Amino acid sequence: MNTTRTEIEREQLTQQRNDLQEDIEILREALRGEVDVDVEEGDPDVVEREKNVVLLAAMEARIASIEDALRSIDRGTYGMCERCGNPIPPERLEVKPEATLCVTCQAEVEKLLKRGMVVQRPRWGLELEGEPEED
Ligand SMILES: [Zn+2]
Repeated sequence: MNTTRTEIEREQLTQQRNDLQEDIEILREALRGEVDVDVEEGDPDVVEREKNVVLLAAMEARIASIEDALRSIDRGTYGMCERCGNPIPPERLEVKPEATLCVTCQAEVEKLLKRGMVVQRPRWGLELEGEPEED
C-alpha cells in the first residue's frame, strides 16, 4: 500500500469536497432568494430554478460519495469495492477518485436503480470492522 499516494488522494478529495461545499452554499442561497417567483408554466425563472434543484441534488450526491471515499481512506479500505471487496483499478480511481464501487458493482447498482429498486448506500452488508489485515 502506497501511503503517499493515499495522502495525495485524501488531499484531492478534501479539496474537491470543499469546492463542492462552496458551490452548494451558493446554489442554496440562490434558491432561497427566488421564493417569490410566480409559479407560471414556461416561466424561465421557474425553469432555471428547477435546473438548480436538479444540479443541487447531483452535487449533494457527489459530495456524499466524496465523503464515503474519505471515510474509506480513514478505514484503510480506500480503493476497495464496498460491495464485493475487490480492488478498484487505479485507472478508475484516477478518473473518479470518489469511486467506492468497482465498475461491475457500479453497473449492477445502476441497473437495480433503473429498475426502481432501492439501493441503500453505503450499507452493502460488507462490514469492515477492526484492523484491515495487512502487513
Ligand atoms: Zn465490486
